[in-house]
Amino acid sequence: MAEIKTDIAIARAAAKKPIREIAAKLGIAEEDIVPYGHDKAKISAPFIKSLQDRPDGKLILVTAINPTPAGEGKTTTTVGLGDGLNRIGKRAAICIREASLGPNFGMKGGAAGGGYAQIVPMEDMNLHFTGDFHAITTAHNLLSAMIDNHIYWGNALEIDTRRVTWRRVMDMNDRALRGIVASLGGVANGYPRETGFDITVASEVMAILCLAKDLADLEKRLGAIIVGYRRDKSAVYARDLKADGAMAVLLKDAMQPNLVQTLENNPAFVHGGPFANIAHGCNSVVATTTALKLADYVVTEAGFGADLGAEKFFDIKCRKAGLKPAATVIVATVRALKMNGGVAKDALGTEDVEAVTRGCANLGRHIENIRQFGVPATVAINHFVTDTDAEIEAIKAYVAELGEEAIVCRHWADGSAGIEELAHRVVALADSGASQFAPLYPDKMSLFDKIETVVKRIYRGAEATADKSVRDQLAAWEEAGYGDLPVCMAKTQYSFSTDPTLRGAPDGHTVHVREVRLSAGAGFVVAICGEIMTMPGLPSKPAAETIRLNADGEVEGLF
Ligand code: ADP
Ligand code: MG
Repeated sequence: MAEIKTDIAIARAAAKKPIREIAAKLGIAEEDIVPYGHDKAKISAPFIKSLQDRPDGKLILVTAINPTPAGEGKTTTTVGLGDGLNRIGKRAAICIREASLGPNFGMKGGAAGGGYAQIVPMEDMNLHFTGDFHAITTAHNLLSAMIDNHIYWGNALEIDTRRVTWRRVMDMNDRALRGIVASLGGVANGYPRETGFDITVASEVMAILCLAKDLADLEKRLGAIIVGYRRDKSAVYARDLKADGAMAVLLKDAMQPNLVQTLENNPAFVHGGPFANIAHGCNSVVATTTALKLADYVVTEAGFGADLGAEKFFDIKCRKAGLKPAATVIVATVRALKMNGGVAKDALGTEDVEAVTRGCANLGRHIENIRQFGVPATVAINHFVTDTDAEIEAIKAYVAELGEEAIVCRHWADGSAGIEELAHRVVALADSGASQFAPLYPDKMSLFDKIETVVKRIYRGAEATADKSVRDQLAAWEEAGYGDLPVCMAKTQYSFSTDPTLRGAPDGHTVHVREVRLSAGAGFVVAICGEIMTMPGLPSKPAAETIRLNADGEVEGLF
């Protein structure tokens, strides 16, 4: 067998084209891009505005079955399919999220695809990129500073210092900052109070940037952020502190989508990166709507498995941005199907056709679920060298019974040449006009009923439960005018249930909503079902220990 090259070795060998040539492929003139060096650019705001009356291309979502902890190749398949569509002569663009910097220093990472289906420059993408996350961090912390400053100077808004909900953020895994006491050190430093840090991707500012339609909408949403409550429990907003204008200024450039390229020199928009648990987990609306104006097919990815990622993509992003996805690709791998079929993590490399067949119940459930949104779904088998023919045949046979085709894709090994069949299938589905997209539930439904609708119809649980305090909180938000918001479910990505070890296609389980949070600026109510970490820590041997620059000035140890 030929030697398998690492992702970074493949990425470094890329024959990148100047970014203006990539822009030209989408009909973007040189004056309409704002280059960040030679291989990255932002798309100018006036140009984006000028596109408004153009027709939209077709939107294709890439999602997945419930994964193994290694990830099943959604990003890799998104990139591969974008290249595949270009290969068969279509004008196609890719839209994915930006990577969080902090986690790269914990475990070896990379969020730019893999093998011969990658986006470059991948080192930049995984580090500071065009500075968007730094801008988001700064805008978030400006609001934090203004809250404490307001309290310091007399607290005219009567913010209850015990009820400040707005924390601080940084793009680093630092468990020491999860809970802190701020303003220690005497009178000049303010009133001591307990607070803490989250990682930048968990910031509501990140979710807002990703859902805002334009700068005016961004500023309005920033103003609607709830920073805390008064003693009478009434909300205090960012606009009450007059923070919204300055925050929007800090985010002005970060709002413009970033254009980069694939290894095959096709256009990729990489913009925004909200958490997929306490937020909706997809790239920015601005990137997607811009790409749809410029390309005939736009391939995008939603975080986690389809129970979380696709549901939020449809019910939050598409609902709010008026997007109408034309087709969905569900990525399945033999190893994740085996895991869903009950095989332990360390035994996934051995052939086990029966386990694959058992695990197919998980895939079948996701196919049914996608159909509930009225969007046609096809299946991509992301091929690994360890897969056996019998295992592949088992998946194909199962999916054929459901009236769909599972297509083997070898883009990781072969680039666009390995994914032509899927590209043709996706074009046929998207062009068929079969999509009748509709969100799962209407805006006008009580918040708890929305949660229960997702639990019953997507997770196939018997019921959603919650303590009285949680139900009272939801009722209070409905009273305050937030009843029309969609719900953003936060639960494990490994199971349809809230128990990560319950694989396959469980049903009849109970989903307990432990806590609810209102993201009033982003425009959703988060339902937390399980433990959610908003500030990760580093492992005992962090990747940072071995990351360094070599003699040629290249980064080593990141990937
Ligand atoms: P996801 O987006 O679903 O989390 P990624 O596309 O980021 O998954 O892939 C996760 C990891 O798996 C990456 O390191 C990628 O290089 C690797 N990978 C993806 N597809 C394959 C494949 N077919 N064979 C081997 N490794 C793969
Ligand atoms: Mg991914």
